Amino acid sequence: MRAAVIDSFNTPLTVRDVADPQCPPDGVIVSVKACGVCRSDWHAWTGADPDVTAPHVPGHEFAGIVEEVGRDCRRFKRGDRVTAPFILACGQCPDCIGGDPTVCNHQHVVGFSSWGAFAERIAVPRCDFNLVPLPDVIGFTAAAGMGCRVTTSFRAVVDRAKLQPGEWLAIHGAGGVGLSALMIGKALGASVLAIDVNEDALKLARALGATKTLNVSAIDDVGAAVREATHGGAHVSLDALGITATFHSSIRGLRKLGRHVQIGMPLGRHAEPTIPLLELVYSRQISVMGTRGIAASRFPALFEMIAAGHLDPARLVTNTISLEEAGAALEAMNGYTGAGITVIDRF
Ligand SMILES: [Zn+2]
Ligand SMILES: [Zn+2]
Repeated sequence: MRAAVIDSFNTPLTVRDVADPQCPPDGVIVSVKACGVCRSDWHAWTGADPDVTAPHVPGHEFAGIVEEVGRDCRRFKRGDRVTAPFILACGQCPDCIGGDPTVCNHQHVVGFSSWGAFAERIAVPRCDFNLVPLPDVIGFTAAAGMGCRVTTSFRAVVDRAKLQPGEWLAIHGAGGVGLSALMIGKALGASVLAIDVNEDALKLARALGATKTLNVSAIDDVGAAVREATHGGAHVSLDALGITATFHSSIRGLRKLGRHVQIGMPLGRHAEPTIPLLELVYSRQISVMGTRGIAASRFPALFEMIAAGHLDPARLVTNTISLEEAGAALEAMNGYTGAGITVIDRF
């Protein structure tokens, strides 16, 4: 089959023939119809991800059709339209059985633990617990565009922060994740403040229904500006970037008892920021939460939101490309690539 391969880090992907994937006994082979291009693929391509060694095929935001079924897989058959969360949990440990597979100790991460979906086909293990049937109303490109960004935002806003109607949601970083959170926040009846330094991203945020936007490129005290814009502080605030500055702005923009959710992955020097424990956590009683991935069992709720017209992930897909163009799309992530999501839809 054809795949776009990382033969060595930081050099252009090679589109070439590779061996067809073997069907796992507990899994399936999916014929890939669409795959999102995500910043975590870029991290893998630069060599920053310790789990990835070259040669490697990236791609974890896929949707497609089941082509082959392993002997121990019961819930799926040839021809099923499917997608999956990027965390394939074991389904058997106390965390999984307790309903929290995103913290499973035995997780297999598609596109990192094994070769991903920048390819004509992908092997997906552990399917009965993790594979998700895709409703007919949701196209492959939209499903791939949901990728980890819409699903991660859904878990952050709905499952972790438990955002309520009428509350203020502040979003630091109006990229794919941030804009997804915006749409979900609006669907829940919250007021949403989108914050960024890029005017184009904020323009898209307004088009998607942001109640207010805040360009902080020339603002020193972002926390104070957010508290003013939200009449006392956000009830829920998200750091969608994962850098120290946005984390600090996020927790400082909260009102008393507010909830911060860390969505962006804080890498390198951003891994251990300071936190004003006395002022914010103790006295103002804020909560600081993390989030990563989503449980396969939560996809139906997300699909209902889409089918009801409250959320349209297809609006975030601003660019569709061929497999040959995947390498250039990753290289473009060395700089700012705009707010929308790029999806490979030709293989
Ligand atoms: Zn588990
Ligand atoms: Zn992703």
